Amino acid sequence: MQKQNAKNILAEILKFPKAKIIITTHQKPDADAMGSSLGLFLFLKQLGFSVTVISPTDFAKNLKWMPGVENVIEFEQDVEACVALTNESDFIFCLDFNALSRINEFGEIVKNSGAKKVLIDHHQNPESFAEFNFWDVKASSTCELVYQFIKESNNENLVDKDMASCLYAGIMTDTGSFKYGNCTAETHLIVAGLLSKGANNVEITEQIYDTFSKERVQFIGFAISQKMVVMEEYNTALITITREEIAQYKLQTGDTEGLVNYGLSIDGVKFAALIIDRTKMVKMSFRSKGNFSVNNFARLHFNGGGHFNASGGSSTETLENTVLKFNEVLKNHKKELNESI
Ligand code: 5GP
Ligand code: MN
Repeated sequence: MQKQNAKNILAEILKFPKAKIIITTHQKPDADAMGSSLGLFLFLKQLGFSVTVISPTDFAKNLKWMPGVENVIEFEQDVEACVALTNESDFIFCLDFNALSRINEFGEIVKNSGAKKVLIDHHQNPESFAEFNFWDVKASSTCELVYQFIKESNNENLVDKDMASCLYAGIMTDTGSFKYGNCTAETHLIVAGLLSKGANNVEITEQIYDTFSKERVQFIGFAISQKMVVMEEYNTALITITREEIAQYKLQTGDTEGLVNYGLSIDGVKFAALIIDRTKMVKMSFRSKGNFSVNNFARLHFNGGGHFNASGGSSTETLENTVLKFNEVLKNHKKELNESI
């Protein structure tokens, strides 16, 4: 997929100054998904458009400080209103996902709407459902791409503290606080720009990482000490979480975010997996170090995808059967995992 020119994409939209615009992002949006959606929302509002952000589902409490978040509508909470808004929209921005299955039942409505779609995304293997594509697999985050979109269309002067704060949050989380391989010189230049526009790195870090419930922190301790299995012959660490444990620790949306990374912090572990029994499905998170592609693993076995070193998938089987399948398919990757660097 070719990344199109931001100026040209925006010019097409500016031909319709009264255009109604929807911005949507993946289910259970994380900081990059919500930060990019709200950063773009604030930008398009400044250009005078009528804009609505629709999230397919609810989202974590530690994102609720983001400027503009009070305007976000949750599809699951108000299906009728979201369908009506989508059907009368002229443009739909699809942020931080590239497969319509990632927005659940909202996908069909987006697909069937007559609106022109604009994809802004950095995940591997994009589906082609959009008229305009601002896609770059090398970008650290969708927030980085939104900043590029604003800058390349010569609107950098419109970036204010609120926009900068939303975009900073997503770049920070998707780069693991600026430490992953996706964090480039370009990323740091953009972050410098965001800080100079007023984003407060200390406040944002606190909002995102230091506002957890006591139960959440205790749960992390429990999961690491009681639920993590390290399979040395596969250089793999696996954590599984049952529905009862979710209830016991009163876990809320977003409370398992980051848990998968602990397995990867063990010397020699190349592949970390987290399998959680959610109400509707069994959800999985995969992370890797080095040249083991968890994007391929998720696509091959668990109907998922994502990035080379961070991906996810799902299963409609029971938790027990999903774990059995995981252990079974892992055998096919033994050589790769042992040889991986
Ligand atoms: P997480 O494990 O943090 O939920 O997701 C890791 C990465 O994989 C994110 O970039 C996320 O968007 C992507 N991802 C998570 N679950 C799925 C899935 O079921 N399908 C696809 N295609 N991508 C996913
Ligand atoms: Mn992202």
